[in-house]
Amino acid sequence: MSGVFGVYSKDKSVNIAEQIYYGLYALQHRGQQSAGIAVRDKDLIEWHKDKGLVPEVFKSQDLDKLPGDAGIGHVRYSSSGDVSKGNIEPLVLKYISGYMAIAKNGNIINANKLRGKLEADGCMFHTTNDTEVLAALLTKFRISSEHIEDSVEQMVKYIQGSYSIVMITPRFLIGLRDPLGIMPLCIGRINGATYVISSESAAIDAVDGEFIRDVEPGELVLIDSDGIQSRRLFDCKKSSLCIFEHVYFARPDSIVDGASTHDARVNAGRILAKEHPVQADVVIGIPDGGTDMAYGFAQESNIVAPAGLLRNKYVGRAFIAPNQNAREIAVKIKFNPVKTEVKGKRVVLIDDSIVRGTTTKTLVRMLREAGAKEVHLRIGSPPYKYPCYFGVDTSSRGQLLASKNDKETICEWIGADSLEYISYEGIIKAPVNSKVDFCTSCFTGVYPVDIPKEF
Ligand code: 5GP
Ligand code: MG
Repeated sequence: MSGVFGVYSKDKSVNIAEQIYYGLYALQHRGQQSAGIAVRDKDLIEWHKDKGLVPEVFKSQDLDKLPGDAGIGHVRYSSSGDVSKGNIEPLVLKYISGYMAIAKNGNIINANKLRGKLEADGCMFHTTNDTEVLAALLTKFRISSEHIEDSVEQMVKYIQGSYSIVMITPRFLIGLRDPLGIMPLCIGRINGATYVISSESAAIDAVDGEFIRDVEPGELVLIDSDGIQSRRLFDCKKSSLCIFEHVYFARPDSIVDGASTHDARVNAGRILAKEHPVQADVVIGIPDGGTDMAYGFAQESNIVAPAGLLRNKYVGRAFIAPNQNAREIAVKIKFNPVKTEVKGKRVVLIDDSIVRGTTTKTLVRMLREAGAKEVHLRIGSPPYKYPCYFGVDTSSRGQLLASKNDKETICEWIGADSLEYISYEGIIKAPVNSKVDFCTSCFTGVYPVDIPKEF
């Protein structure tokens, strides 16, 4: 999982690096491991990137060193420990037409195979990042194509997986989305002269931009002083947006492919209440994903939803803690029940998902310690059973609780009085007005593209 953000402006007074900084700040939830910005100034591309959160990586003097008229930025999420500095995006490289910068959200599942072939061909790599494989293909095809768009069109024939890409070339700011539209990408405009490409619409709001539209699955978008050009690279029949964008990843104030993430979560809560009602005194959502779902559940079941669980604002995503003990402590530091709201009450506890079960198990215990009489767990997505190969970190999915255990066993292990999940049909219809279909392989084990054997 990552966030990408690109800006192009005809207006010389626009500070490109600063706009990207604000955009990345708004996309911080999509990746906390590293951040980077690359900006094009005439024939050169300068960059600044490092491990850490956006405000840690960039000081104002770093941004001052990045003047120019177009640029891209990236925030990266990965749970598997140390990521080498060289892998931090955007990647900046020199190719036959000049400099290029590229940043991606997604996962190219045949990247290793392609890398092997390119290496056998004499190609040299500086990183182990699959994005560099795309750059290598692009530069290779650029030699024999008239325009960069032709080389992109060639490249996409070879790559499989999920990708929402932003790129800077000597001429364009480019946006590209895979033919299934697995990861989101959208376009905005600030004051007519400045264009933005972003993983999420909430980041367009953050730079005071106006949302124009989503980049469509399989679409290549090229932006320069002439405005936006578009090319459809595929004949897309069925799209496959990751359902977890609506369940968990995207900000609730984003609109993804036509559907409000907030509304999707509220609807999921309502559907959950209809499918699995419960006699209770209070509904409490586990922030952030469960908050909107709890709101919907409470509305539908006419039960109050007090702010019964404090979430420490200064703790990021606890999911990436290295071991089980550390994860439990992380949950305790992150959340604390408000005792006066739960003492003596029958509580419905709502979360967006159960992965390993650490969050819910720890919170059920904490609620009981705070005096809750009963704790009924309701989950706003179906059992998470199968690994994801498209960008959601698979290593952290190694202990998927629902892959080996049935509902009763999980309920007992977590220590709840009851446990129910939203149905598959329920979660599919929760994102109203969605213009796309969903990838639900983590629930079904049915993947939208063939998964290479090595996985
Ligand atoms: P568990 O504690 O069961 O292992 O994980 C479930 C919690 O992690 C839920 O509260 C959910 O919001 C969050 N979550 C679900 N998927 C992901 C993910 O891919 N990354 C991160 N950081 N958190 C996740
Ligand atoms: Mg959560």
